[in-house]
Amino acid sequence: MRIAVTGSAGRMGRLIVKHAISEGLKVVQAFDIVEVGRDAGEVAGVGKIGVTIERDVEKLNADVLVDFTNPSACLENARVASRKGVKLVIGTTGFSKEQREELEEICSKVPSIISPNFSIGVNAFFKIAEFAASLLHSYDVEVFELHHRHKKDAPSGTAIRVAEIVREVLAERGRKLDLKFCRDSKKGDDIGVFGIRGGDVVGEHTVVFFGEGERVEIVHRATSRDCFAKGAILAVKWISKVEKPGIYSMLDVLGLTKLF
Ligand code: NAP
Repeated sequence: MRIAVTGSAGRMGRLIVKHAISEGLKVVQAFDIVEVGRDAGEVAGVGKIGVTIERDVEKLNADVLVDFTNPSACLENARVASRKGVKLVIGTTGFSKEQREELEEICSKVPSIISPNFSIGVNAFFKIAEFAASLLHSYDVEVFELHHRHKKDAPSGTAIRVAEIVREVLAERGRKLDLKFCRDSKKGDDIGVFGIRGGDVVGEHTVVFFGEGERVEIVHRATSRDCFAKGAILAVKWISKVEKPGIYSMLDVLGLTKLF
């Protein structure tokens, strides 16, 4: 299997290169708009691998493309991959509703995995939140997250996804709630989703179910980005065996979709 990485000089892209190599996978191409002309392995801190970082994604020639960039770059990269029949593993977050619809349209033409969070723990956290929502369906729910000061989107894709999961469970029980991002006070019945930024926090997500005289909190803390990269490599291995075009999730990769 031949892997290409877009955003290969970024925080996540470098780890994807590193973990792919340590898993014995073949990184054949690396793309970025910085560190162009340098060896992708050297940029990732694993020594020369003989793959030079290029700028022009039109040169894509691989089996799977792993993208950790930004929404507009990701859309362009996915468009090229889909046209060339290259499978996709997408970790980029921060898409607007319109961008997300466009991405899904593009990705549905090849086997693709789109996940706001590739860590195994966060995908278990999604299922735990789903189960908790079914037990605590009359409680107030709020979601908040902490990330490092360089993160470009807020609230995080993971926070939005867990809030959507809770919203879906409550809707099935007749409680239709909107998601409200970073509002200044709680008015009526909705799920607030808050992003807090500072320092070097890798990523922390909390869902709070508030009852009368009690509350239940479900927390996931990432202490290293390695958990995202390892999960993305699992996703690459899984999608390499899938032939049916369509969009799959990390829950499919982990076999958690039908749990509960
Ligand atoms: P980052 O350090 O900013 O890395 C992104 C890299 O992509 C940068 O080197 C950036 O260059 C480059 N880039 C921009 N436009 C490009 C293009 N057209 N072609 C190729 N490369 C391009 O960010 P990060 O922390 O690695 O995060 C990347 C994305 O992954 C974010 O959306 C983040 O939220 C998401 N993320 C997802 C997960 C997950 O598990 N799904 C985990 C962590 C992060 P410039 O710096 O010059 O723009």
